[in-house]
Amino acid sequence: MTAHLPLLEIKNLSKSYGAVKAVNDVSIHIDRGEIAGLIGPNGSGKSTFFDCSTGLAKPDAGTVVLDGQDITGWSLNRIAREGRMLRSFQKTVTFKSLDVEENLVIAGQMFTFPSIASTFGLGKMSRQRIEGLRERARELIKMAGLWDVRHQPAGNLSGGQQKLIQFASMLMPEPKLILLDEPMAGINPKIIERVVDTILYANKSLGVSLLVIEHNIDVVTSICRRVIVLDQGAKLVEGLPGDIIQDQRVREAYLGG
Ligand code: ADP
Ligand code: MG
Repeated sequence: MTAHLPLLEIKNLSKSYGAVKAVNDVSIHIDRGEIAGLIGPNGSGKSTFFDCSTGLAKPDAGTVVLDGQDITGWSLNRIAREGRMLRSFQKTVTFKSLDVEENLVIAGQMFTFPSIASTFGLGKMSRQRIEGLRERARELIKMAGLWDVRHQPAGNLSGGQQKLIQFASMLMPEPKLILLDEPMAGINPKIIERVVDTILYANKSLGVSLLVIEHNIDVVTSICRRVIVLDQGAKLVEGLPGDIIQDQRVREAYLGG
């Protein structure tokens, strides 16, 4: 019934912190099956836009409609569980003392029994369901290039590998849409390729749509079909990656002109 609608439609979103208009009347949509990019200089409101779209912060104004359902004002947890829209943070979050496979299984489990997951652990789930999660976890671990380190504590691995664990964990609950906040920040070029491959796998093979904040413009132009540019909290322009990088307004925004 909602197949003809965009997967995500955000209208007139605004959020101020004191006198700072962090997000100022921004409207965007994400189509089903697409990878879109969100770029802009530091402080242009990209992370705040994610915060307000995913329930971490309440927008002052605007609406967020996901798959035909108005989710404005829903909590981060409810949007993740019921809306199946997930977000990552600039800072990587993993369970550092658990091994790679356990990190993924727990991520899958949290969305099955979100409120009791941490209290009762895996004991509350049927053996069959846990096996299903383990199978999915192993598939994702292979695809993310983490097979050889799957039994190591996440905390022992590099920052880039932890980003891969975080991203693979987000794929466990079969999301519709993932919002990634600077997935390539601070990781080495070899792992960048892995993260790109993992994002493309999620999109093409698992059917996940993505909105990605990213400063690495080569990554943006290679994975995104469409790019949206924020400047000083407002949408400056959107279009094809090739056109965006040529756009004089975008160049000036980045130069602070
Ligand atoms: P970006 O992710 O594009 O770098 P942010 O969304 O982090 O930009 O920030 C946009 C503006 O909002 C900045 O001026 C920032 O200082 C301000 N801001 C963001 N979050 C908060 C907050 N929790 N409290 C106060 N100001 C904030
Ligand atoms: Mg940010």
